[in-house]
Amino acid sequence: MSGSTPESTAERIGRLRDEIRQHNERYYIDDDPIVSDAEYDALVRELQELEAEHPELDDPDSPTRRVSGRAAETFAKYPHVRPMLSLDNTYSIDELRAWDARVRKGLGDEPYRYVAELKIDGLSIAIGFDGRGALVRGVTRGDGVTGEIVTANVETIPGLPKRLPGAATSALPAKGEIEVRGEVYLSTAEFRRINAENLEEGERTFANPRNAAAGSLRQKDPAVTASRRLALFAYELFVAGGKPFQSQSESLAWLRSAKVPVNEATLVCGSIGEVVAFIESAGERRDELGYEIDGVVVKVDSVDQQEKLGYTSKAPRWAVAYKFPARQATTTLNDITIQVGLTGALTPVAELEPVLLSGSTVSRASLHNEDEIRRLDARVGDVLLVEKSGDVIPRVVKVVLDRRPDGLVPFVFPTVCPSCGAESVRLEGEVVRRCPNPGCPAKKLKSLLRFKERKAMNIEKLGEALAGKLLETKLVRDPADLYVLTASQVTGLERMGDKSAFNLMAQIEASKSAGLARLLYALGIRHVGTRIAQVLATAFGSAEALGAATAEELAAVGEIGPIVAASVAEWFGDDGNRELIGRLKAVGVSMDAPEVAVEAAAGIAGKTFVLTGKLEGMTRDEAAEMIVARGGKTSGSVSRKTDYVVAGSDAGSKLEKAEALAVKVLDESAFLSLMRGDDVEGSDLT
Ligand code: NAD
Repeated sequence: MSGSTPESTAERIGRLRDEIRQHNERYYIDDDPIVSDAEYDALVRELQELEAEHPELDDPDSPTRRVSGRAAETFAKYPHVRPMLSLDNTYSIDELRAWDARVRKGLGDEPYRYVAELKIDGLSIAIGFDGRGALVRGVTRGDGVTGEIVTANVETIPGLPKRLPGAATSALPAKGEIEVRGEVYLSTAEFRRINAENLEEGERTFANPRNAAAGSLRQKDPAVTASRRLALFAYELFVAGGKPFQSQSESLAWLRSAKVPVNEATLVCGSIGEVVAFIESAGERRDELGYEIDGVVVKVDSVDQQEKLGYTSKAPRWAVAYKFPARQATTTLNDITIQVGLTGALTPVAELEPVLLSGSTVSRASLHNEDEIRRLDARVGDVLLVEKSGDVIPRVVKVVLDRRPDGLVPFVFPTVCPSCGAESVRLEGEVVRRCPNPGCPAKKLKSLLRFKERKAMNIEKLGEALAGKLLETKLVRDPADLYVLTASQVTGLERMGDKSAFNLMAQIEASKSAGLARLLYALGIRHVGTRIAQVLATAFGSAEALGAATAEELAAVGEIGPIVAASVAEWFGDDGNRELIGRLKAVGVSMDAPEVAVEAAAGIAGKTFVLTGKLEGMTRDEAAEMIVARGGKTSGSVSRKTDYVVAGSDAGSKLEKAEALAVKVLDESAFLSLMRGDDVEGSDLT
């Protein structure tokens, strides 16, 4: 901001302070923010930097100097015996190391340890127990000095003891009122359930589990809170206003002994390097936890050293939060385009102003169908809240109605296919609108691209641009034409050299023996994914037998439901499709399931497998294919009915569950032995 006049800086600072206060109100009081956390944090950072550059414009009331939030009028108030502070944030390992250097300096080079804890994304709570261990009070943070009394609501939290065990209270080295502080949160499953229910009842949905937890805890009617199944992790302990133990790790151990829930993933670290390793592993496991975390909290373990480092007006100097990259952001909806899918489905796509999410730039997100657009009331020009978790594809959470510019018009879903202009159809009971034209160029391209997929006929050299050219020049009208192409026909297209053309030809030739399962998937029959294709191939053995089966016969096969059965029967009943099959057969494409699959089935048929972790020699889809080919089943979750868990590297909670339920665990080589028909029952792999 150098070069700007003091007046304009003062104005900017004033505006930032006002804006941040407004966002605090929306966030802490209404539980309904209108900017993402990342945008909010950016405003706070800008303000902090300006204030550091201009100490003359200091104000002790600035939101950078105070704990954000306030106690709402609707609740009785409670003055905290000790202030409930916030945490300073770091956004990179370098910043974290710089904080570590300040700690070391502050402690005059004496040895110190850290406790690393997950930063649970909920809201903090102070729970008071009397000297004999009876729960007497639950208070929110409020503005850090005064909180809201929500005792009746806190009492509904399952797993929180209403009375601490006598043995634990008598083991405390100090006497007096006990205060347990922790984070109230909602599991992701519960968050989804609440939002789905709210949606059904036409009520507003929550942007994230944290807002939902806050909204659920701060209810006037405890029965509503009770219906929300909140949860708690405790992380701090006071007795008579002071810390009773010498260290954070001892406090956590006592809380566990008192049957108060404490997060398992807590680590005492001898160095910042160990903290960094903990952060990395927490980041990797983030999606498997079943609840949201937004980072890791690092605390100096020793209470004496904590006191030596002290506090700012807003946060302790002895602790810091390392924040993971933001998963939500707001951005502008520049346009809604319509994509034509393999089966003619018209899918609306949100064309977004590019925005950084979970560390990558996002510029498109599916809007699924016209009902979803109506539900969101998404209009071109709107500000959207978008989200991307881990590997999951980005999704639109909601429209930020408070930021809607004037004059936006509701989106009208086109009734014609954007590719061929055919009148689209929406069948009764379906949410999707489809292009019915079999000659639609967009559908043809999609079907060629499906045909060449690795999981399908595996013709990798057939890229999208080349596929488009082949269709455009009419050298190819459908997948069967690929098999009569010559190298000289393709060399002229898409600047393809002789060698590439030769490789393409070789891949096309090799694809002839891909087998029935891959072929079925490659044909893009509605509802037939790789797994169903494998089931069908195993059950019928040949395209001929499959084509002759009625919907009833198809539905009689285990795992094939009536919808899939009807779709397959309809596909094979179509003259054009029959002709395609005939031409593929004529050029030598295999129409049979390989023998091996059927032979090796003994000992696997009917068994349920759960695949977890990363396999070295194959993808999980490929492993599932092998199982299904041998008559086995795969499932997404481990239960007593699971026969085998196949665990690759970095297997997480599913492996733990398998061990707890004594389900047989196979590593990759034992799995392959089993698939080959070797006897693994006698091996000592469990
Ligand atoms: P914070 O959430 O960044 O960190 C402090 C809090 O972490 C503590 O109060 C505690 O509740 C929690 N916590 C979780 N696990 C913990 C553990 N193991 N040990 C200690 N504490 C733990 O800070 P804050 O002051 O509560 O909130 C500020 C943040 O809230 C902002 O950075 C922003 O992300 C968000 N916010 C967003 C908006 C918005 O409009 N989008 C507005 C206000 C605040």
